[in-house]
Amino acid sequence: MSQTEKVLVIADSVTVGELAQTLNLPVTRLIGELFKNGVSATINQRIDFETAEIIVEELGLAVKLQRKVAEHHATQRLHTPSDKATPRSPIVAVMGHVDHGKTTLLDAILHTKTVASEAGGITQHISAYQATKDDRVMTLLDTPGHEAFAALRQHGAALTDVVIIVVAADDGVKPQTVEAIRFARDANAKIVVAINKIDKDTANPDMVKAQLASEHSLNPEEWGGDTIMVPISAKTGQGIDALLDAVLLVADMEELRADTEVPAEGLVIEAHMERGRGSVVNLLINQGKLKPGHFLVAGQAYGKVRTLLDFTGEPLKLAGPATPVTVTGFKELPQFGDIFTVVSNEKQARALVEKAKLDQARNAATTNVTGADLLKLMTQKHDAQEFDVIVKADVQGSLTSVMDSLRLVETGGEITLRIIGHGVGNVTESDVRLASSSQAIIYGFNVELPPAVKRLAMRDKVAVRLYNVIYELLDDARHSMEAMLAPEVVETEVGALEVKGVFRTMRDTVIAGGEVISGKVTAGLLARVKRDGEQLAEVEVASVQRQQQEAKEVFEGELCGLNLKTHKKIQLEIGDTLEFFTRELVKRALG
Ligand code: GDP
Repeated sequence: MSQTEKVLVIADSVTVGELAQTLNLPVTRLIGELFKNGVSATINQRIDFETAEIIVEELGLAVKLQRKVAEHHATQRLHTPSDKATPRSPIVAVMGHVDHGKTTLLDAILHTKTVASEAGGITQHISAYQATKDDRVMTLLDTPGHEAFAALRQHGAALTDVVIIVVAADDGVKPQTVEAIRFARDANAKIVVAINKIDKDTANPDMVKAQLASEHSLNPEEWGGDTIMVPISAKTGQGIDALLDAVLLVADMEELRADTEVPAEGLVIEAHMERGRGSVVNLLINQGKLKPGHFLVAGQAYGKVRTLLDFTGEPLKLAGPATPVTVTGFKELPQFGDIFTVVSNEKQARALVEKAKLDQARNAATTNVTGADLLKLMTQKHDAQEFDVIVKADVQGSLTSVMDSLRLVETGGEITLRIIGHGVGNVTESDVRLASSSQAIIYGFNVELPPAVKRLAMRDKVAVRLYNVIYELLDDARHSMEAMLAPEVVETEVGALEVKGVFRTMRDTVIAGGEVISGKVTAGLLARVKRDGEQLAEVEVASVQRQQQEAKEVFEGELCGLNLKTHKKIQLEIGDTLEFFTRELVKRALG
């Protein structure tokens, strides 16, 4: 784009109406764009900064948004260390584009650099672990995925000290790499780049460095910059030691500290229910020492620490800052990203939870759309869509026929129905957990939903649909899949005009006149501006005049004046053609 970008400052969250005003766009256009991206929002609905950024990008506006409270937000920590704070180990996240090797790297470190590797491995999923390099410890968040990171940020906590950005040397910088760099910068985390897959013949680490340097201002140290870039192979293990050294080095420059002689506080990084254990919650301690018997509050949940385990599952008597632990004893499940604090007794815990619930009820009046939601919707839309279901039935025979019939629900190939779990018997907690982690729907045929499982499903917002009639179940599946289809954009041609005069050109308005050469023109229509058959811009007809009078419609063969709204300045010329059309979003039905 040749135009220089305009910088607009907006708050961390704005209403759709406010954003439209800031961008100088008709609010309907903004709503339409959100809708196209799978978000149905009203003028008063709040969207977060990331969503606004994405939408501005999608609209192709020459505008750069800046966060008004950026510094404030990014540096917000759970607690600012006092003078008495003592050094703590760094907390590290691994981010990067899909398939660039995040999981492989995290596994490689887990299996070579942790006590778990000696103790014979870890059987359950952990969300953070501690790696040791030369007697120094660092905590790695094993929740790759930018969504998780975005959620943490949304809760106001810049949790990570260092972000390892993994870039595959045979693939280079990709959209999620860029997103990762942005997240890391927003969170004020230090960046170390791991150039992965250097074992491959097609690896080209210099290309990655050049991309990062020229397009993202990450200049490699060896080229005189200050970003450490370590070539590695997560597969063979090559370079991993050097990578961890680099992480420790940049962490050292941060002089990370935390208080220990204060009530423990930190973040919930994972929470689920387990049969026989109840709530199992992974926490990352930010300050203080946590012990069994402590009362904890996290968001709207509280409890007393019944067991305190390290990441390998070994019991602990005490855990300090920057330590990931697993606790049981929460009465309800807290949410990922909730801040937990230790309080002195149960009464205080209950009072805090009550307050949190009240606050939430107050805030619930405005629904928020977050960038993470939007990204999810966008990727869902662009990838082949999947409708994931879990099927439970009373007996094997009916289970088989429900599954067979579900597989026959026609989709026209656009949405794939995937049965990710099935079984005979009532819906269980583990069905709900599976559904929750994979965003699936549970269908039950002639089975029940026990009250405890129902509560869990409600809390995790998992849809459980019970039927006794197979056709109703299939109808439900069909309707749910239709709801997933992105609406179709239908454009209808209305007319065309040849520009005979251009009277005024302002930043967002052009006043011009011409002859309607086909069909008609009315106010409110959209128009494609074409020159020599090429489209220059899309504009909106704000009003139409015939003989200096406001007109409703002007038909073929007639002359008229037009007031056109534009989103970027355009230089209309005599001889240009305007093609008028309407654009509607039409909900689609399955073929
Ligand atoms: P993620 O999506 O970023 O978590 O990527 P994964 O860790 O799942 O890796 C994606 C694919 O790349 C897998 O097939 C891995 O085996 C492969 N892979 C990851 N690291 C390396 C590497 O260093 N060398 C090679 N040759 N393959 C790798």
